Amino acid sequence: MARLILKTGREKSLVRKHPWIFSGAVQRVEGDPRSGETIEVRASTGAFQGWAAYSPTSQIIARVWDFNEATRIGMDFFRERLQRAIEMRGAFVSAGAAHAVRLVHGESDGLPGIVVDRYASTVVMQLSSAGGYYWRDTLTALLAEITRAQTVFERSDAEVLQLEGLAVSVGLRHGSALTGAARFEEDGLQLLADVEQGHKTGFYLDQRDNRSLLRTLASGRAVLDCFCYTGGFTLSALAGGAASVLAIDSSADSLAAARAHLELNRLSGAELLEGDVFQVLRRLRDQARSFDVVVLDPPKFAPTAALAERAARGYKDINLYAFKLLKPGGLLLTFSCSGGLSRELFQKIVADAALDAGVDAQILRWLGAASDHPVALGFPEGEYLKGLLCRVAGRLQRR
Ligand code: SAH
Repeated sequence: MARLILKTGREKSLVRKHPWIFSGAVQRVEGDPRSGETIEVRASTGAFQGWAAYSPTSQIIARVWDFNEATRIGMDFFRERLQRAIEMRGAFVSAGAAHAVRLVHGESDGLPGIVVDRYASTVVMQLSSAGGYYWRDTLTALLAEITRAQTVFERSDAEVLQLEGLAVSVGLRHGSALTGAARFEEDGLQLLADVEQGHKTGFYLDQRDNRSLLRTLASGRAVLDCFCYTGGFTLSALAGGAASVLAIDSSADSLAAARAHLELNRLSGAELLEGDVFQVLRRLRDQARSFDVVVLDPPKFAPTAALAERAARGYKDINLYAFKLLKPGGLLLTFSCSGGLSRELFQKIVADAALDAGVDAQILRWLGAASDHPVALGFPEGEYLKGLLCRVAGRLQRR
């Protein structure tokens, strides 16, 4: 078996059970491992550190599967990891056969670069690491065995594949072919996930808890849903008795999917508007429109820490206008799914936005991804989605 030897002292993060090994920490690689193959990782002293998947073209040159020397990486190892991840879901998420749930959340479930979502009887596997690619067939067979899904579909097309030197891999891997969108239930709503072409694996499962929160806040309110995609928040607001919803997205296809969702659930009261949120918010302000609740769930403005500064301007801008559009007592649900932006920085940006908008605002709750998207304590990089529920307490006195 090939072996990776670390530079002196560079095993520190592994000792803390962090699974990533950066290429800069490597003294040498012995043998000629193929991409994704399991290699042995040792400290410069020779001490065993872990079994890892080799990722030659990536800056993260290896990802550890297990830190125990006695473990063998193979079918049984993956069966046990998958079972453990899947069983854990039952306790926290309504994981009935008709529901959708993230079954495997990568590093935080001990399976680096492997994401698995279930939409009722359709299972979608999204691989983003050389190790995941190497074990694709094993993972497919195990998912079919454990979940008894009708369909196992692969959606390995995330942007990060480029950094890993991996080619897009999308298609049916087991069972029946997809016939249109996968249908599932959430909180009594009928939902559709476009597993083949939709964002992520077809739906934003990570926002589930925040959708139910909005539902409890929406009764009788005028809601503005910015970056609505296929209408997740819009449907929840209407189901919660919102007086009206204005939903904005720049994608006509997403709005068509949102419209189909409204019809499927026989919900009315939403206006869907195609446009650029940055411009529409200004126009609404010029028209002196106001809302009781505003949702801001933009796409990733900062995929990496290096782009955080430019992203910060984007977040500041939309939050500023959202505050201006809120009535006194109004609520803002504001999110960032940028992995490169910390929770602290995001909160500061929102605070600056409130100040510039001339409002006195409070945080009522810190928001994040639903509990089927856990963050391993030793892997803080796993926290990408962060949000705030804010209330406008009043206007600031201008001096
Ligand atoms: N809130 C959604 C997910 C949002 S994904 C949900 O819970 O399902 C981000 C969405 O923002 C995408 O649908 C994309 O089309 C849209 N988008 C990206 N940039 C935009 C812009 N400048 N103005 C309006 N919509 C935009």
